[in-house]
Amino acid sequence: MAHDVRDLRTLNGASLEMIPQGLPKASNLQRTLKSSIGCSGIGLHSGVRVAIKLHPAPANSGITFKRIDLVGGGSEIPARWDRIADSRMCTVLSAENGVSVATVEHLMAAFYGMSIDNAVVELNGPEVPAMDGSAAPFIFLMECAGVLEQTETRKHLRILKPIVYSHDNKEVALTPAEANLKLNFSIDFSAPAIGQQSCSFDIDRDVFKAEISKARTFGFLSDVTALREAGLARGGSLENAIVVDGDRVLNEDGLRHSDEFVRHKLLDAIGDLYLTGHRIVGEFHGTCSSHADTASLLRLVFADDSNWDLIEAPEDGLASADQTWDRPLKQATAG
Ligand SMILES: [Zn+2]
Repeated sequence: MAHDVRDLRTLNGASLEMIPQGLPKASNLQRTLKSSIGCSGIGLHSGVRVAIKLHPAPANSGITFKRIDLVGGGSEIPARWDRIADSRMCTVLSAENGVSVATVEHLMAAFYGMSIDNAVVELNGPEVPAMDGSAAPFIFLMECAGVLEQTETRKHLRILKPIVYSHDNKEVALTPAEANLKLNFSIDFSAPAIGQQSCSFDIDRDVFKAEISKARTFGFLSDVTALREAGLARGGSLENAIVVDGDRVLNEDGLRHSDEFVRHKLLDAIGDLYLTGHRIVGEFHGTCSSHADTASLLRLVFADDSNWDLIEAPEDGLASADQTWDRPLKQATAG
């Protein structure tokens, strides 16, 4: 189901005025947005209305968040694993001076899904708007802004050996793969409306948009009071989350996929993995894991340089014979 302008205008008052443009074909060149574009919406946890603007950015600059509601310097926050300040309910990034931006994961997943390497995200508040609880509205925004190929080549982060983080019944792992990012996720919830679900995808732009981008975040009716007392989920509603009560989904229109819950967990993982600063050649495995587990896994990956290298490869990580697949390009910036 493709979103059109009317769809998005109904999402938490989001507004925009552009129409989607075509995308360049797969290549090994970095990409940014062709033009700036913005929208506004409510933060899932803060309940605060926030306007965001996505801007083009130079090659090799990566994704940067910028709080424009604060005076003084230091409000730029690179979207990087070593800036993760909190990952209990969502992924929060923080600058050295403590300025933070919350719930970056769905937007980061959309950047990954759109193969956008470089962008600046301006916000006038503490949290990325929830929109409809998925990455689809962000994909739509980026398609409206258009995508621009840059002249510099892209470097993929290739996983060289298995890295596992586990505790209790939760496990996350990254293992080597031939090409591309593959993801497997399984969950097991006592609520019968969710139960056991698993899914597996080989990520490229088409797969992300069609199979993953629309999967919404979810919560439990029984948790709402406790979360709100803890200052979380203040902006959560049936407009931006699936709400589960035992064996029932309370949203009138039901689910977008029969396994929407596990697909959303996979979406979250893609967003968190993009905090490596690179597209990944490897296979991710998640079992009942959370943002915090993925953050721990990333710390493990970068704790040992022999876990990874950087290689030039096209968008999907599939190198042809004449490309420098085997040439390591390790740089200090990736660690
Ligand atoms: Zn999420």
